[in-house]
Amino acid sequence: TEKNREGYAPLYNPFEQFISRYVYRRVRHCFNTPICSAPAAEITIMERQSDDYNWTFRFTGRKLKCLNLSSYNYLGLGATSPPPVAAAVRQYGLSVCSTRAELGTTPLHRELEETLARFLGVEAAVVFGMGFATNTLSLPGLVGPGTLALSDENNHASLIMGLRRARAAVRVFRHNDLRHLERLAVEAIAEGTWRRIVIVAEGVYSMEGTVVPLRALVALKRRLRLQLYLDEAHSAGAMGARGRGVCDHARVPPRDVDVLMGTFTKSFGAAGGYIAGSAALVRRVRAAGHAHAHAAAMPPPVCAQVLWALRTVAGPEGERRILALERNTAYFRRRLREMGVVVLGHEASPVVPLMVYTFSKMAATVEVLRRRGVAAVGVGFPATPLNAARIRFCMTAAHSRAQLDHCLQQVEYAVQHLGLRYSRLTPPPP
Ligand code: PMP
Repeated sequence: TEKNREGYAPLYNPFEQFISRYVYRRVRHCFNTPICSAPAAEITIMERQSDDYNWTFRFTGRKLKCLNLSSYNYLGLGATSPPPVAAAVRQYGLSVCSTRAELGTTPLHRELEETLARFLGVEAAVVFGMGFATNTLSLPGLVGPGTLALSDENNHASLIMGLRRARAAVRVFRHNDLRHLERLAVEAIAEGTWRRIVIVAEGVYSMEGTVVPLRALVALKRRLRLQLYLDEAHSAGAMGARGRGVCDHARVPPRDVDVLMGTFTKSFGAAGGYIAGSAALVRRVRAAGHAHAHAAAMPPPVCAQVLWALRTVAGPEGERRILALERNTAYFRRRLREMGVVVLGHEASPVVPLMVYTFSKMAATVEVLRRRGVAAVGVGFPATPLNAARIRFCMTAAHSRAQLDHCLQQVEYAVQHLGLRYSRLTPPPP
C-alpha cells in the first residue's frame, strides 16, 4: 500500500474512500444527528427527513423525544450536574488555561487523583482532560522502540494511535484469544531481542460487548513475565459488584494489572481520562507522557463532577445503580434472545450489539427505531468488518422496566419488518 510521511498506510485507502463516498452517502442520515438535551434515559434529537431518491436529508426543524439507548451513560449519572460543579465554575472558571505541570493543578485535581486511586484500589492515579488523548499521549511515555506490544485486534483507535506514536513494534492477536496471544508471546521471548513485552487490551469491547478473560490473562502474563496495559473505558463503573471495573468483575487484585487506564465519559458521566497503578508508574506518566506537560489540565468543574460521581458510585446510591444496570442488561439481553436475533457479547456487558450484517439493514433499523421513538447507534465498517454491521444498544441504570419494554416492542417491530431474525443464511451465534 501507499505510505504517508510517517511511513504508515494512509487512513483512507482507496477502498475506504469508495466506502465513504458510495456507501456512507446512502446511510449518512444514521449519523451526526444533533441532540438538544442531556443524555438521560430519554434524549431529544433534531428530526431529519431523508430523500431516498437523491440520497440527501434535511432537518425538519422539529425535535424528537426518544428513549435513549445510544449514550455510554451506564449508571445514569450523565444527566446530573451536582452543586459542587457550579461552585467549581465560580471559584476556578471553566478552564485553568494551563497545563498540569505549569499553573494548572488545583486542589480539586489532587483530591480527584487521591480519591480515584482509593476507589480503584491502587497506589496512585493521574487524570487528563480527554480519554482519547490519555491513550495517545501516555503510551509513548510507557512503551517505545525496543518494546513489543501485543495488541488485541479489536482495540480502540486511541490505543492503536498511541502505539503508533510510540513507535513500538506491534503484533496483533485475535480478539480475546489467549492461545494466540501465548503463541505470539512465546515466539517473541524466543527471539530474545525485546526489552519489554506489553499486552494491550480492553476491559469491555465497545463494538462486541465482549469482556476480557482477565483471570486467565493475568495468569499468562505472570507466567511469561509480560506486562499488561488495560483500557477500562467501558468497564470502570459499569462492571463488578462494586463498579470497580473488570478487576472487580473477575476478582483479580487491581495491583496485578500494570497499567489501568480509563475514561470519565461513560459510567462517570463527565469528561477526561486517567492512568492508575503504582506510584512509580504514575510518576513516569507525568514525566514522560506528553499530556501532563503539553496539554491543558482537566477543567476544574469536570474534576468536581467526576469526584461527585466517584463518591456516588462508592456509596449506597452507587450500589443501587450498579444493581439496576445489571438487571436491565440481563433483562434486555434475554428478551432480545427470545426474539431470535443474533446478539453478541458477554451476559454482563452493558454494550449489547444486535447483528444486522449489512449497511442497508443497519440504516433501515436505525431509521425505523428513531421514527418509533428509540435512539440507538448503528455501527459498521471500518469499526466492524464490512459484512458485520450492527445496532448497538447501551444499557443504563436510568431506564425503568416499562421504558425497556417499550423499547423492546419497537425492536420487535423492526425485527419483523426488516427481517433481522437469523436464518440458514445468517447462522446463530456459537
Ligand atoms: N478507549 C476506549 C476503549 C474507548 O471506547 C474510547 C471512546 N469511546 C476511548 C478510549 C476514548 O475516550 P473519550 O471518548 O473519553 O475520549
